[in-house]
Amino acid sequence: MTTMYQQQTVAIDRVEQMVSRLKKSDHRITPQRLAIFKILANSVGHPSAEAIHGALLDNHPTMSLATVYKTLTLLKQEGEVLELQFSDLGNRYDGNKPYPHPHVICTGCGTIVDPSLLDLDDITKKMMNETGFKIVAHRLDFYGICPECQKNG
Ligand code: ZN
Ligand code: MN
Repeated sequence: MTTMYQQQTVAIDRVEQMVSRLKKSDHRITPQRLAIFKILANSVGHPSAEAIHGALLDNHPTMSLATVYKTLTLLKQEGEVLELQFSDLGNRYDGNKPYPHPHVICTGCGTIVDPSLLDLDDITKKMMNETGFKIVAHRLDFYGICPECQKNG
């Protein structure tokens, strides 16, 4: 239960952060935008724009996919969502951790998980020392078969 509560708190914090960042840059917070923020903050599976749109249609029947895309572009521009581009899965979004971090990706169903055990700060520092680069981002994907897909053969 503790972890559920923490998840929930994190989600609320993320929505507030998205709202305050957009307000600071003079963007309006419409009910539709707020609904998209909430979906992003509460998603653990790195949804696609289409999945976000689908999740919103019940409560926001007039929501267009274009609005979802525009809001994602805006959030990306403001550094409040991490966009993962894939040639085969389409783009997926992480609204919980809007900064570079490793991902574990199922090649069966496309589920994407954040491993919590991997801290890349040390590696990044070492790489900067070794190469003289100022490293500002990274992309590290691990591919495999998720437990659910393993069960289903
Ligand atoms: Zn899977
Ligand atoms: Mn992630």
